[in-house]
Amino acid sequence: MSTLDPKPEKKRLPRKAFAPDVRLETLAVREGLPATEWGENSEGLFLTSSFNHPDAATAAARFANEEEAFVYTRFSNPTTMMFERRLAALEGTEAAIATSSGMSAIMLLVMGLLKAGDHVVCSRSVFGSTIKLLQGEFGKFGVQTTFVSQTDVAEWRAAIQPNTKLLFAETPSNPLTEVCDIAQLAEVAHAAGALLAVDNCFCSPALQRPAKLGADLIIHSGTKYLDGQGRVVAGALCGSEQLIENVFVPVMRSAGMSLSPFNAWVVLKGLETLSIRMAAQSANALALARWLEAQPSVERVYYPGLPSHPQHELAMKQQGGLGGAVVSFITKGEGADAARRNAFAVIDHTRICSITSNLGDTKTTITHPATTSHGRLSEDQRQAAGITQGMIRVAVGLEHIEDLKADLASGLNSIA
Ligand SMILES: *Cc1c(COP(=O)(O)O)cnc(C)c1O
Repeated sequence: MSTLDPKPEKKRLPRKAFAPDVRLETLAVREGLPATEWGENSEGLFLTSSFNHPDAATAAARFANEEEAFVYTRFSNPTTMMFERRLAALEGTEAAIATSSGMSAIMLLVMGLLKAGDHVVCSRSVFGSTIKLLQGEFGKFGVQTTFVSQTDVAEWRAAIQPNTKLLFAETPSNPLTEVCDIAQLAEVAHAAGALLAVDNCFCSPALQRPAKLGADLIIHSGTKYLDGQGRVVAGALCGSEQLIENVFVPVMRSAGMSLSPFNAWVVLKGLETLSIRMAAQSANALALARWLEAQPSVERVYYPGLPSHPQHELAMKQQGGLGGAVVSFITKGEGADAARRNAFAVIDHTRICSITSNLGDTKTTITHPATTSHGRLSEDQRQAAGITQGMIRVAVGLEHIEDLKADLASGLNSIA
């Protein structure tokens, strides 16, 4: 074949065909790869590090990237690909790439898109490790980040520089559940010739689909609602086929933050129940938030599903009418010491809630942000961020709502 001949069409792995209007719930249980010759109904778990080729010429074609096939699990794996295709279908993006954790998805994002001298604009309210990764680790490599208000779009616009390549948002935020306007941030990014990435952990695609609102890339910690049962650490990056294949797959192949097929299988099966879990956990969270608002020893409740939430209308529009499963509240108490004592008392009186900073589990978790997830901040930084000593965060699970109320009531009554 001379080099002037047109390149033959790349041979692709088969895809399942769905009607164009097939719904999210159906894709959540059906999207993936066709079954193997054995006709398995539940998706296969392919625990293999490499794949065999029928002959040397086929191996050569696969290594030359003329034929899409499985070669080595750092590059791709059938179980991992089923998870990627299913998640992309749910997010409404052309493609996805699975990563070993949510943080490695963010690392892949930055490694793929940016180089020394580039600039990022990021919300000040994103996950703590995201701030450390951008500012600390990527700062060392010459990528600069400006941190701005979660809710004031004018601050994002004002922070744009000629070298700004990426805007990074997370909504709702942890633990204050502040909501940013994805569609507006997409406009700001695109007007500057930059891309918008959204960390969609808290809502998951069952409630919020950032790509539909103009976001270019979506970050997931599969550890949270996608698995939904607190079993594995996993992550993913969703976006256009062009970006995933040409920008991120090459980084994955050389940097190797790939997801184990076993963990991919666990999260893949978790996706099948995602929308019913998100609906049920959001309903539980709304009931708990309303009840907390009526408790005399509670000063304030933060939950996007409550009309008292400052961005309630935007949240309902952006999150499919549901508030998500994370509720934070402040216990009453004069001064920081008393507030912390009261918050600890509420946490220590619980018998059902798990005392852990993780979230996205069917088991309700309870945490004191000021001394755990946000414990490394100074008291001034915490005050500025609104994370006071009286604050408690509850990530609501699937237990009966009356049992959860009773579990919190005993501590709240003890401080009343
Ligand atoms: C947990 C979390 C991450 C990090 O995910 P890991 O899977 O723990 O690496 C990133 N963003 C948000 C919003 C999270 O809650």
